[in-house]
Amino acid sequence: MSKMKMLWLSLLCLMMPSKTPVTALPLRTTDLPTGPNDGLSEADQEFAEEYLQHFYGYRPKSERRKRTADTDVDESDWNTQLCDKVEKMQRFFGLPPSGELTKETLAVMKRPRCGLSDVEQFGKNIRWKKRTLSYRIAVYSRSIPAPKVHKVFKAAWKVWSSVAQIKFRRRRRKEADIVISFMNRDHKDGSPFDGKGGVLAHAFMPGYGIGGDVHFDAEEDWSFNFTGFNLFPVTVHEFGHALGLPHSSDPGAIMYPAYNFVPNYEPQLSYRDVKDIQHLYGINPNFASLSSKKPPPRTPEKCDLDLSFDAVTELQQELLFFKDRFMWRKHPQFDETRITLISSLWPESVPTHLDAVYENTRKNLIVFFKGHLYWMLRQLQVEDGFPKNISNLGFPSRIKSVDAALHFRNDRYTVFFTGNECWRYNELQEMMEGSPSLIEKQWPGIPYPIDAAVFFDGFVHFFKGNIHYKYDSDSKRVIATSPANDLLECKTEDDNEILREGR
Ligand SMILES: [Zn+2]
Ligand SMILES: [Zn+2]
Repeated sequence: MSKMKMLWLSLLCLMMPSKTPVTALPLRTTDLPTGPNDGLSEADQEFAEEYLQHFYGYRPKSERRKRTADTDVDESDWNTQLCDKVEKMQRFFGLPPSGELTKETLAVMKRPRCGLSDVEQFGKNIRWKKRTLSYRIAVYSRSIPAPKVHKVFKAAWKVWSSVAQIKFRRRRRKEADIVISFMNRDHKDGSPFDGKGGVLAHAFMPGYGIGGDVHFDAEEDWSFNFTGFNLFPVTVHEFGHALGLPHSSDPGAIMYPAYNFVPNYEPQLSYRDVKDIQHLYGINPNFASLSSKKPPPRTPEKCDLDLSFDAVTELQQELLFFKDRFMWRKHPQFDETRITLISSLWPESVPTHLDAVYENTRKNLIVFFKGHLYWMLRQLQVEDGFPKNISNLGFPSRIKSVDAALHFRNDRYTVFFTGNECWRYNELQEMMEGSPSLIEKQWPGIPYPIDAAVFFDGFVHFFKGNIHYKYDSDSKRVIATSPANDLLECKTEDDNEILREGR
């Protein structure tokens, strides 16, 4: 790739209208890799172009040159298109939509995922016309025993048939509607697999011949637990395609394209998946009674007035709001805050349903708390020896968890909240200062136990249930209360669109 091309990747997005220049604020490159792409290798940039070509409909320059003689016009158009595609991808994955190929964007591109496009519309209402579909396993995996594969596939079909009016029968020999195979590299369908990692599987929309067929990358380390890639959630996702569902940008949906199997979360259809499949095939008559017992989970919605948070922290220039498996990233240069998975940024070993999170700017660490454990991460990697017990920080054994962590960047200390108490931790000496105080004495007016706390813009912000308390530390009083979600600004056009779609 030429030097010129690399420059475009990093600079041209700035010329796009309607954006604050992306370099307006200083970026630290030592921390979260959100800075410009100075450090990206040519191989990485080529990888990114291929990724955008495959998943976001980007047409590379070489292909377009054939179509036009005027290369100048073509080039500026080409750059605009590239930035535009990067931005689309960033929006889809809840990243700050700068249009720039940051290291962080590249890291998300490199996460394991499904091989189907995120933007291609397969046409609304593509579906099988019959209610009972046959499937056949044509090529087995060499590493998994056949009975185990049968069991996983049967369970995955049941996930869909329990909510929609559709049934599945396995055939041993005869032709079937849906043919399932474990395939290696180029397997003659125009979408070769890429070996370990990257693309895990793909499927074809309903139709004759290859239509409805499902292919798994045979080189993946498939498993039934947390090692390698768990076959079950990937199968449920691919079967969704085989039934006619495209990708969803709802990170709570099984049809979200990224692999996101995390410990303590049983893969299941989200509210959105259920609505989508029922739209195609109708509602399974038994679904109503089933769902009254255990309704499909809804992805948290930032405009929900009842929204509460597990934890809130600063991270470089951003504010991060954590909820269940998800987080929202509020970046000072972008109006919209989109939901994403915690696991889309950090490794799966970072737990969900967190208690507290803070950024230690002095050491460039981000610290996560859940129960009696805490994790420290540098860049996107868990530090050696973590998780550790919170007693390491100086908590007595009676303290079983931390409600919130409030870090003061300039003063190098952190306040931990536990029940009705708060503890001051000296980050320079790495020790607790004295004994705990009562919250009602140190922070009068703040309810406890608190959900989350963060210092920014000169104020302390506390969160409890659906209320946000803006607190002035000097006068020691609450100066304003508002809905907890007021910092997430939920009134953009895009959000309204998502809201409409979701209802
Ligand atoms: Zn997919
Ligand atoms: Zn294939």
